[in-house]
Amino acid sequence: AKALGRGRYEFFDVALRERMQRRLRMEQDLRDAVHSGQLWPAYQPVVDLPTGEMVGVEALLRWTHPVHGAVSPAEFIPLAEESELINEIGKFVLRDTTREVASLRSARGLDLSLKVNLSVRQLEDPQLVPAVRDALATTGLPPSALCLEVTESALMRDEVAAAEVLAALRSLGVLLAIDDFGTGYSSLAQLRRLTLDTLKIDRSFITGIADSRDAAAIVASIIAMAHAVGLTVVAEGVETAEELALLRQLGCDQAQGYHLGRPLPAAELFAQ
Ligand code: C2E
Ligand code: CA
Ligand code: CA
Ligand code: CA
Repeated sequence: AKALGRGRYEFFDVALRERMQRRLRMEQDLRDAVHSGQLWPAYQPVVDLPTGEMVGVEALLRWTHPVHGAVSPAEFIPLAEESELINEIGKFVLRDTTREVASLRSARGLDLSLKVNLSVRQLEDPQLVPAVRDALATTGLPPSALCLEVTESALMRDEVAAAEVLAALRSLGVLLAIDDFGTGYSSLAQLRRLTLDTLKIDRSFITGIADSRDAAAIVASIIAMAHAVGLTVVAEGVETAEELALLRQLGCDQAQGYHLGRPLPAAELFAQ
């Protein structure tokens, strides 16, 4: 029993060490990835429900690892957030996507808006506001064509600090969205104080609305509440024609999802 006990400790040590080593390796790889063109933004269309037109695109970062291939942002964004690397990556995303969308707008005469995700660490970075200002100035993208998405949980972590940064961003003229709405615990009063423009209903609320009256009623009440405080409502994760029809009927303003378009490299999205 004694030997088994010691063996177990060794087993756990090895497993833990391997996990930590993989993490360190991935972190180092991510550091290199920023400088070697392995990170690139995919763009998912955002569709206006009354007209059916594409009115914007959300930039979703992709990592093509030289050995492991596609690594999901669900894995590498949290890794970047633990290591301050997120600030560097975030600035790259801002520069690259504003440049790409500004040139698409002028080349094609499209009035397209760009949505960029911000992580909570970026809200704490004093360089964030200047970085946004620089990206706009350098590319000529109108501030009103940029919408920054911040998750509900990020906003609620330090509400007072968040409100201050959001006010500074807002003074640049950009729009602000609360992302993944419904997954946190924010109240209507908090939302009002933050003076946002857009509310994105999390995919978990959209899945199944076509089959459940209760699920649809919840989404209907989120839309009503958001409209009451003057927010534009975007539904995420629309995967079927039935969900789309129902959201239109409920008065939702805009939608995204595989049914409307998957995230694609800019060249592919605009080849059509
Ligand atoms: P998010 O901002 O909530 O983005 C929506 C996610 O849902 C994306 O996953 C998108 O590809 C996926 N999606 C879109 N439509 C559908 C659908 O119809 N069905 C399903 N099942 N999924 C759909 P993705 O691209 O893997 O990104 C995951 C998360 O990583 C994002 O969630 C966002 O929080 C984060 N992320 C991505 N790019 C960036 C970035 O540039 N900066 C930061 N800070 N975070 C990012
Ligand atoms: Ca988002
Ligand atoms: Ca989301
Ligand atoms: Ca999400």
